[in-house]
Amino acid sequence: MSKSLEGRLAVVTGASRGIGYFTALALAKEGAHVIACARTVGGLEELDDAIKADGNGTATLVPMDLSDMGAIDRLGGSIFARWGKLDILVANAGVLGVISPLAHVEAKVFEKVMTVNVTATWRLIRSLEPLLLQSDAGRAVLLSSGVAHTCRPFWGPYAASKAAVEAMARTWAGETAHTALKVTSVDPGRTRTAMRAQAAPGEDPATLPHPSEVAEKIAALTKPDFTESGKLYVVREDTLKTYQLPQ
Ligand code: NAP
Repeated sequence: MSKSLEGRLAVVTGASRGIGYFTALALAKEGAHVIACARTVGGLEELDDAIKADGNGTATLVPMDLSDMGAIDRLGGSIFARWGKLDILVANAGVLGVISPLAHVEAKVFEKVMTVNVTATWRLIRSLEPLLLQSDAGRAVLLSSGVAHTCRPFWGPYAASKAAVEAMARTWAGETAHTALKVTSVDPGRTRTAMRAQAAPGEDPATLPHPSEVAEKIAALTKPDFTESGKLYVVREDTLKTYQLPQ
């Protein structure tokens, strides 16, 4: 039986662990060729081994630091030279920064959160949009967080960065409304990953959903038959929202 993403080409950032790793694996299980990006080569190699063991899709590993904006531009150029198009972008890589009162956040920490979560996401959009528009069913999924809406005290840099990600996703969806490209932002909810352990060190990880569960939901948003655009998908509620007001 043919797989739903057979022959599709996907970029997944932050594919070395957590939600990105399992999303890359889920896309490959459906037959996609995954361009897996992150800094940690060991994590990318583990992913490659898991994809090979599964026997469906394939992977190209791209060790890169998303704070290197030139590297993001080169990624687009390399994909164009080799494939001429891109079907799926999952802009998943992100950093938490620090849990701290806004007024106490060190400038370099604030800037890192903005660089990795916001500027790199914009730079991916800029580098990869021409390739996504060459696809007959381009799909872009940008990872947000519920904190973008709740603006939880002490989560300031991260909350601001994810609000910016959602603003870009909605803006981009409007700009591409008359094309085959569909853009969705995702609130994955609390998930059992290294980032969540950093945010809530006292929490029992066993009480949280495994990233593979979230990954299945994200993978569904990348399929050609998913045709919504400009919405926020909230994983824990399994709902698509046009706009989520502060709670
Ligand atoms: P994670 O386990 O910490 O993984 C983060 C990924 O981002 C890693 O693969 C990491 O790879 C990559 N990354 C970080 N900085 C990078 C950089 N400078 N250059 C390239 N790659 C970089 O986090 P996660 O929990 O899976 O989070 C995935 C996404 O979901 C994030 O956008 C996060 O904000 C969002 N989210 C997570 C939760 C949760 O509860 N887990 C909740 C809401 C939203 P390297 O370190 O190898 O580079």
